[in-house]
Amino acid sequence: MSIHLIILGPPGAGKGTQAKRLEEKYSLKQLSTGDMLRAEMAAGTETGNAIKALYDAGELAPDALMIKMISDRIDQDDCKNGFILDGFPRTVAQAVGLDEMLAHKKKDLDAVIKMDVDEAVLIERLKARIAESGENVRSDDTIEVFENRLNVYKEQTEPIIPHYQQKNMLVHVDGMGNIAEVSEEFDRILQKHQK
Ligand code: AMP
Repeated sequence: MSIHLIILGPPGAGKGTQAKRLEEKYSLKQLSTGDMLRAEMAAGTETGNAIKALYDAGELAPDALMIKMISDRIDQDDCKNGFILDGFPRTVAQAVGLDEMLAHKKKDLDAVIKMDVDEAVLIERLKARIAESGENVRSDDTIEVFENRLNVYKEQTEPIIPHYQQKNMLVHVDGMGNIAEVSEEFDRILQKHQK
């Protein structure tokens, strides 16, 4: 079995939580571009330093950098059983770049799972995260930056939805429930795609 998935949805929808769960349950590899960039920043690499200001403002890192990062990562051995893209693609250019790279690598996408969550719920969840994490809060998890991340999502990421609708790949998941409820929906989808 080798499943290639995208999890799409607004910031704070729970993409990472679901991707981590699928990683364990189905032996897939979670590829979170946000985690990759946080690792680069923590290590103080050239890439990390170059994108820090964009990251802290809730803006997107350059498309070419992100496409290369994912392309290199997909080639690694731990993606052999399949992967879950979490936080990528985030722009139409990234979606097109992904199509081209997968065609080149002779790999297919199986499904794009879009998590639907109301904006008011996202803000409530953010407030809970800030209250829980105290000083460990992510530098882009302030109310102000989060609002910008939501706007960036609407302006730059939502336009990729028709791209996948046209390919008949889009599956919606109601992301408003608790983690267990949302997980059940994911399991139903994964079971359909198991080869
Ligand atoms: P995330 O952890 O997915 O919420 O991503 C956090 C931040 O990392 C985003 O607000 C962007 O600044 C940056 N980032 C993550 N993934 C991408 C991507 N695919 N394209 C551009 N920027 C990204």
